[in-house]
Amino acid sequence: MKAVLVICDGLGGRPTDYNGKTCLEVANTPNIDELARRGITGLLDPIKPGVRPGSDTAHLSIFGYDPEKVYTGRGVFEALGIGMDVQDGDVCFRTNFATVDENFNVLDRRAGRITEGTDELERALQSLKSSQPDVEIFFKASTEHRGAIVLRGHGLSGQITDADPHKTGVRMIRSEPLVDSEAARRTAEIVNELVEQSYHILKDLPINRKRESEGKLPANILLFRGAAVKPDIPSMEELYGIKGVGIAAGALYIGIARAIGLETKRAEETTGGADSKIINKAKLAVEELQNGKDFAFIHLKGADSCAHDHDAEAKIAYIEKVDEVIGYLLDNLDWDDTHLAFTGDHTTPVVYGDHVSDPVPVVFVGPNIMPDDVERFNERSVLKGGMGRISGRVVPILFGYCNWLKKYGA
Ligand SMILES: [Zn+2]
Repeated sequence: MKAVLVICDGLGGRPTDYNGKTCLEVANTPNIDELARRGITGLLDPIKPGVRPGSDTAHLSIFGYDPEKVYTGRGVFEALGIGMDVQDGDVCFRTNFATVDENFNVLDRRAGRITEGTDELERALQSLKSSQPDVEIFFKASTEHRGAIVLRGHGLSGQITDADPHKTGVRMIRSEPLVDSEAARRTAEIVNELVEQSYHILKDLPINRKRESEGKLPANILLFRGAAVKPDIPSMEELYGIKGVGIAAGALYIGIARAIGLETKRAEETTGGADSKIINKAKLAVEELQNGKDFAFIHLKGADSCAHDHDAEAKIAYIEKVDEVIGYLLDNLDWDDTHLAFTGDHTTPVVYGDHVSDPVPVVFVGPNIMPDDVERFNERSVLKGGMGRISGRVVPILFGYCNWLKKYGA
């Protein structure tokens, strides 16, 4: 048996999105509809009814983990997602290159959306050092203003606030402990010292002098957010005895795949944006399954980004690209022994422009699945679906059809 999970991020919508219809209803999706014809459909509450999911918590839940028990914060997935080594006890953060004035007023949280020269900033920041000699610091830049930092040492805590005011025109704020513990106090102190150090390291670098001479904002400070330790979760292999691959372009999703023990691969010409050549993810998944993997997870980001931008036309166009991905899988998977689930990690209505708690349509297809009568795949048609309404756990349900689950009880 083989299993495939395709997540179209932010797939779900509301009837207010496009003249009384959702983007998924408006999009021309013959292949996705073919999944509905062949399979069983329903609605998925990514975490549970009435919980408004983040992408990270929703993915954990869809993979069968309970985010209320295992979720530690986003920073660790970002660090893993850009290829950093993360060990038990490490505290990870997402970072931004940002711009402050000499009084530490935040002028821009993304340093003028810096695109070039971040390798020079990264090199300079290798000198970041804690005054506590037993704590090691690792920094890595990612795309544009983004990066991650890992603190390694005994007695550190992820229970601290962001050193990031999350808005401009205000002074930098200090990280504070969220709990009354020595570890949290010490970690917050280290973060505050690193933020200040980053300013002294970065402010006079040649790249920043050059940016200023060109009228651009200098990248002269690091903002820290999303403090998180590595979640204590068993891998997919430990839970199910299977080898899987995660195919994603966004750092968060690569990081989640690594955190649950999937090997991660990047398909050619994929970007994590709406312009990504996502068909290559389907090709890579088929190759990986032919080369011995049991399970492929394909993450497709663009629909969510278009919805955050309130752009219904773009979301519709992206869903039609996703339809080509499904078409390739329909043509190239071995349907005698493959089960596939297709869904979103949450609903992102284009009018609201952010995640909401509404459920998303889900479909399961494969030889062991009893199909229902639903012939189109969208928020409205699946109301009649045979799967009814489920909460998270898409992957355990999928693996159940593959006969990969251990028996609960005797
Ligand atoms: Zn998402």
